[in-house]
Amino acid sequence: MKKKTALIHGGISRDEATGAVSVPIYQTSTYKQDAVGKHRGFEYSRTGNPTRHALEELMKDIEHGVAGFAFASGMAAIHTVFSLFKTGDHIVVGDDVYGGTYRLLTKVLSNLGITATFVDTSNLALVEEVISPNTKAIFIESPSNPLLKITDIKGVSKIAKEYNLLTVVDNTFATPYWQQPLTLGADIVVHSGTKYLGGHSDVVAGIVVTNNVELAEEIGFYQNSIGGVLGPNDSWLLQRGIKTLGIRMEEHERNTHEIAKLLNAHPNVNKVFYPGLDTHPNHELAKQQSSGFGGMLSFELQEGLDPEVFVGKLKWFTLAESLGAVESLVGIPSKMTHASIPREKRLASGISDELIRLSIGLEDLEDLKEDLEQALIFETSRVR
Ligand SMILES: *Cc1c(COP(=O)(O)O)cnc(C)c1O
Repeated sequence: MKKKTALIHGGISRDEATGAVSVPIYQTSTYKQDAVGKHRGFEYSRTGNPTRHALEELMKDIEHGVAGFAFASGMAAIHTVFSLFKTGDHIVVGDDVYGGTYRLLTKVLSNLGITATFVDTSNLALVEEVISPNTKAIFIESPSNPLLKITDIKGVSKIAKEYNLLTVVDNTFATPYWQQPLTLGADIVVHSGTKYLGGHSDVVAGIVVTNNVELAEEIGFYQNSIGGVLGPNDSWLLQRGIKTLGIRMEEHERNTHEIAKLLNAHPNVNKVFYPGLDTHPNHELAKQQSSGFGGMLSFELQEGLDPEVFVGKLKWFTLAESLGAVESLVGIPSKMTHASIPREKRLASGISDELIRLSIGLEDLEDLKEDLEQALIFETSRVR
């Protein structure tokens, strides 16, 4: 089964009971048991729900794992994965991971005695340097957020195996359509389903997939024990989104590539961060481990040009948190998604105050280009 077919026919693609082509929304909390201890696979909807189960099976298939798990948000998914660790454990984490992941580690899990060291994981030597005897896992994003840095997933997994650590990859930006970390040696993949998987800015969801049977059992136990599960309505919405993931990602990428070229050539732009450009330091690695570069890009205006003025002039790019949907979005990481990271730390990892992040949507490319070009015209009076 090829990728686009798997998105539509993977998992449980129809309802066995009725033949319904779209898996129904089983809006139920509990299930009649035929006799004590004799049920038909479902007992209580925190533990399992047929609509959520269909989504979990689909995610398992498209990420090439042995089990999938759906959660009420990406953060709930990531938190559940971190439940595998205990007091005294240490995790190596990418230095420009999603702000919420940084916050979870430094403000919540730190209270439980779980520590994290943040490093530029695109440099494998740095990763190995910070591994200590109590390290239990390496957590990475590739491409990363918002600098679109590329980490060698195979390389990290190899180091992890040498030290007996788990490799966890947040695959939200690439999606399983472009990149399947489990086939590159990772043990666990996490997603914010809120982004490309859903794709329409109408659902908040999280996903975990693993290719290890024992880990699957543990994660299933924590999913049911902690209970941050995805409801049946949202599970259905996510499946509906995933059916078109292939054509959406192809189009996101086409638009993004053209916009990256436009920005790269513009005199008011200092720097463009997009792994699809052959000027990106890890363009070749990105090409090797992913079949596409995605629809996210960041760029810096020339010094002295105010990103808030630029954003204020845009017509088709909505100023909003989030990414990965049909509508184009724009954000200023230092003031929005990454505001919870202290400024010195943020600057040290390369996220300047002038950095602008774009999530390129599926509008007509000509409209998007025109919009960016008019917003990039700065009058001298507007220069700070
Ligand atoms: C949005 C996001 C998350 C968090 O997911 P939520 O669904 O908002 O909880 C985690 N990782 C990445 C890369 C994200 O973009």
